[in-house]
Amino acid sequence: MRTLLLAASLAATAPAMAETVVLHCGDVFDSTTAKLVGARTIVTTDGRIGQVLPGRVPVPGAREVDLSGHTCTPGWIDLHVHMASQSGPRSYEERFRLDDADYALRGVGYAEKTLKAGFTTVRDLGGEVTLKLRDAINSGAVKGPRIYAAGKSIATTGGHADPTNGMNSELSFMLGTPGPTEGVVNGADDARQAVRQRYKDGSDVIKITATGGVLSYARSGDAPQFTVDEVRVVVETAKDYGYAVAAHAHGKEGMRRAIEGGVTSIEHGTFMDDEIIALMKKHGTWYVPTITAGRFVADKAKVPGYFPDIVRPKAERIGAQIQDTFARAYKAGVKIGFGTDMGVGPHGDNALEFGYMVEAGMPAAEALQAATFKAAQVLGVADLGQIEPGFRADIVAVPGNPLADITLTRKVAFVMKDGVVY
Ligand SMILES: [Zn+2]
Repeated sequence: MRTLLLAASLAATAPAMAETVVLHCGDVFDSTTAKLVGARTIVTTDGRIGQVLPGRVPVPGAREVDLSGHTCTPGWIDLHVHMASQSGPRSYEERFRLDDADYALRGVGYAEKTLKAGFTTVRDLGGEVTLKLRDAINSGAVKGPRIYAAGKSIATTGGHADPTNGMNSELSFMLGTPGPTEGVVNGADDARQAVRQRYKDGSDVIKITATGGVLSYARSGDAPQFTVDEVRVVVETAKDYGYAVAAHAHGKEGMRRAIEGGVTSIEHGTFMDDEIIALMKKHGTWYVPTITAGRFVADKAKVPGYFPDIVRPKAERIGAQIQDTFARAYKAGVKIGFGTDMGVGPHGDNALEFGYMVEAGMPAAEALQAATFKAAQVLGVADLGQIEPGFRADIVAVPGNPLADITLTRKVAFVMKDGVVY
């Protein structure tokens, strides 16, 4: 009886089963070798890739999509977004006026834009509303990318992601001091509890803010905000639940503690020097640069009144630095995964990051690999990021050859997720 009920409830919530679709791709990007392999016929059934045949092979009776003159790549993965928000001059005031429902409804729009831009999977690094958006997308209620969500970011008191930063004393008093339940920790026991709370909330990954941040209402963008011990406890507890840990970090000391504490990835990594680069290579830590966010905030820092006075100098100093840091880290051989921090910049423009990576010296093929094969490794998911039989049928097509012109990634002509064409 229980089995029957379970089967019935699964059938009720699963998105419409994908039909067999055949894609005739003019060229295909092999994400494991980062090379184009020529024309392929890709047969997708029930949301997965069934066959990948050389050349153009007719498959009678199936729905066929002509993508000749196009390059097919695995669906792109953005490892750093905030799907339920988008920053702007009014964001600071909106925190006091909007409800979760407002953010959720905006998120629905952002999610569809992201999917249509070719990003079939995202990792959302902060935002409780996104947990529900993820579920709504998975149930087929709204359109969007597959989301791996952190839920609430874990911070220390006054740190980047302390939800009461910038509030007046009366409001702070009324709300009380935030603790592990709200994602604010001080000490090992708090850190352990905060991770367990994220498990209870239904998170897929853990995010910590190892240093100050640009957009938070606080003075320092780079001061360390966790002890090594606190990071270690987060990482150890996260392992109990199979979670990877992503660490937001701009300053050097915070990065050092995060890496030594065992985090999976450093996000932004702004003031990474040779010592930190060597440490990341030693520990096998991933780097998710988010150049797009850096460029965006540096640009907006020039607009009078766009940011509060406490934020503007941070945006100017940190934003301008990230692309240069990326160039050095890439040259030094740090493992790089693709991430934009969209929600800082406008959702749907995620492919800008490809251009910035190439501009900073990474070949286009490796930039695409960072958003497919490598990003899947950061997620720890075995059936994403490749066009191979058995993998999820997430496929994006762009006109022409994106290895010759990376800006073609901004002209996505076709998006398939789980075998469904959007
Ligand atoms: Zn972020």
